[in-house]
Amino acid sequence: MKISVKSKNSLVEQALQTISRSGENGIFQTELCKTFSLDSRDGSRLVGNLEKQALISREKILYNGRWTYKLIVKKPAMAEIEKRQVEIKSVEGAPCFSCNYQHLCSSEDDMSQYSPAKCTWIAEWVLSSFSRTLNQQRHVDL
Ligand code: SF4
Repeated sequence: MKISVKSKNSLVEQALQTISRSGENGIFQTELCKTFSLDSRDGSRLVGNLEKQALISREKILYNGRWTYKLIVKKPAMAEIEKRQVEIKSVEGAPCFSCNYQHLCSSEDDMSQYSPAKCTWIAEWVLSSFSRTLNQQRHVDL
């Protein structure tokens, strides 16, 4: 299978996410190949790429009578993935992404009518995100 660089990067990223979701138990390479409809050669290349970047460990294992590999995300990589997920979650639903005035908005130009400091949309979003986080926290504490 011939894959463009962009889709290859996205495939590598998605494969890493999939392996990370399997946690400390890891995932069999054959399962990963099935998930992404890869033949064993492309699967090996993909996994080799992740291994070369020291993102995963690969352990040879007998599964259903055939040799395969168990893939586990390394702890530093896992911490980085979790950090990224928290960063993405923290800006989820922010009004700036769909704002019609984004091109006019500036935190440096005091004369601008649109700035995060004056913006009621962002203030509302921050408050609602904050109260949602508080409610979730209360739910966890109960
Ligand atoms: S801060 Fe307000 S005005 Fe500026 S881009 Fe975000 S939503 Fe739009």
